[in-house]
Amino acid sequence: MPGWSVAAGKAASVGIRYPCSACGNLTRFDVVTSRRTRAFHHYTVGGDLQVEDEAVLDEHVDEVTCRWCGDGAAVEEIDKALDGAAEVTAAASDRSGAT
Ligand SMILES: [Zn+2]
Repeated sequence: MPGWSVAAGKAASVGIRYPCSACGNLTRFDVVTSRRTRAFHHYTVGGDLQVEDEAVLDEHVDEVTCRWCGDGAAVEEIDKALDGAAEVTAAASDRSGAT
């Protein structure tokens, strides 16, 4: 039955977990993220800015550091989405040619 194929693309970071294999931490991490966005900057005549319709064009996690032991090297990245719904066809958005 079709209908559940709307998986990939949107909330990409929600399914990511970062277990630290050094100390067992599962819940506390410092995450450095690079995000490229496009937004509608709506100025009033007086110069006040209101940002609307912000869209994330690109998002990349640069660094994850364990909050407990401070070790970034021991932190693994686990995609729960892949874990739970293994049948999801690998996203067709393989950006080859990016840097
Ligand atoms: Zn740790």
